[in-house]
Amino acid sequence: MSHPVLQALGIANDPRVTDPAAREGVVTVTNPANGQAIAGVKLDDAATYDKIVDASVAAFKKWREVPAPERGLVVRAIGDEFRKHQAALGELVSLEVGKIRAEGLGEVQETIDIADFAVGLSRQLYGLTMPSERPKHAMRELWLPLGPIGVISAFNFPNAVWAWNAMLAGVCGDSVVWKPSLLAPLTAIASNAIAERVAGGMGHPGVFQLTIGADQVVGERMIADKRLPLISATGSSRMGKHVGQVVAGRFGRVLLELGGNNAAIVDANADLNLAIPAIVFAAVGTAGQRCTTTRRLIVHESIVDEVTKRLIAAYKTIRIGDPLAEGTLVGPLVNGRAVEGFLSAIAAAKSQGGTLLTGGEKSPVGPNYVTPAIVRAPASNQLPIAMDETFAPILYIFTFKTIDEAIALNNSVHQGLSSAIFTDSLRHAEMFLSPTGSGSDCGIANVNAGTSGAEIGGAFGGEKETGGGRESGSDSWKAYMRRQTCTINFGRELKLAQGIRFD
Ligand code: NAD
Repeated sequence: MSHPVLQALGIANDPRVTDPAAREGVVTVTNPANGQAIAGVKLDDAATYDKIVDASVAAFKKWREVPAPERGLVVRAIGDEFRKHQAALGELVSLEVGKIRAEGLGEVQETIDIADFAVGLSRQLYGLTMPSERPKHAMRELWLPLGPIGVISAFNFPNAVWAWNAMLAGVCGDSVVWKPSLLAPLTAIASNAIAERVAGGMGHPGVFQLTIGADQVVGERMIADKRLPLISATGSSRMGKHVGQVVAGRFGRVLLELGGNNAAIVDANADLNLAIPAIVFAAVGTAGQRCTTTRRLIVHESIVDEVTKRLIAAYKTIRIGDPLAEGTLVGPLVNGRAVEGFLSAIAAAKSQGGTLLTGGEKSPVGPNYVTPAIVRAPASNQLPIAMDETFAPILYIFTFKTIDEAIALNNSVHQGLSSAIFTDSLRHAEMFLSPTGSGSDCGIANVNAGTSGAEIGGAFGGEKETGGGRESGSDSWKAYMRRQTCTINFGRELKLAQGIRFD
């Protein structure tokens, strides 16, 4: 008997969904909250993968001929369908990856929001016109559909990351081939089925394709596949480095959304009534498994004791438990490997001179639960483990004397995704956002708002080992199209640029 949520979403009888007994060619999907199997999912082999991409190429050739505003109508209908299924899909996200219910629902809300954004965008794929230096010439830029887009997604946003890509790609005239994480294939099956059912019902079958398979079989084929001109990959920096190199080797394009190691600066005059809850949400929300999770706190030395005391008190009130139960704020980590990573980072922090102030242990609640940790760095501010992204709820506290020192600490890691400053000083806020680039070196920089919880309207992504890609709002859509510069001579003479005469 399949899980009721799979039935509610209409995927209980999907040909990929099978019984959970592990065997060759099947991945068992496990609920991290209780270790119980939810279902089995059949994996694609190389031949199946090839057929899926062929189908996507064929769909692309038809889809790009559909006027962009009409493509927008399809995306609007997809967004409406996600509205109808928000509760069930949000629950499936919770079951598969352990997010609390509010965050599962919030994730599907992002999908609805980006669909709305994409609908408006479908009438705004603007190119520039520019004056030509030659008489009786016109110049303009066209933005053209790019092709089938390969989307590789991480486990922690099993629905929204695909949607950020797929809804924009859809209005841009691209088809999509999605390879989800093997930790969350059921959410992918349900999400893709919604999009494909709607698009197919409106006469556009095949635009949204799904391939589920092992990295060595499907992942490697996908990144080397010349039929996919853009690979948009979300996940660890380790994965992105490899994907980036392989795709560059075939002159493909990448859009990389990789790891973060995000800091929040707490200035001497920060409003702590605002800062403390913002920091707690950003540090322990999604059990520290967001790319934008606050991992480092950089606190003015004059208030570090007060901030630490208030954070510890807040951490003690956090309810850890079943992600679907009312009142739970922190669910499990995604699997046992994540728990091991958490425990070994805590051990490393201690051996490097850090002081564990709270948490840092396995929790008795269930197999993959831990207690969110706060670690105070030594007075030297040297704590090498904090240079890495441990995908778990560990908050390292550093101290600073001057704002320059705080910004330097913010920028001292390999990653550059999100950052925040809590301050009432206009000068310090503006230095953090300095237009010369001497402030935060991250793709996201917030004032009196935490590092996580971005809105879809802005471009989302980060610098350095975060990969440099931008997804979601603003002009991120340009990554999904190719630009053509067109010059039209409407005179009767051949004029060359730069005044060159060739007669
Ligand atoms: P991961 O790197 O283990 O896997 C991500 C995806 O890459 C999966 O689909 C995986 O199957 C695929 N993959 C791995 N090796 C591959 C290969 N050789 N070829 C093709 N595909 C391959 O990451 P994860 O554990 O699923 O997710 C957590 C990581 O993702 C964290 O580092 C987090 O910061 C990052 N993340 C970043 C963003 C962002 O927008 N910047 C958003 C969410 C998550």
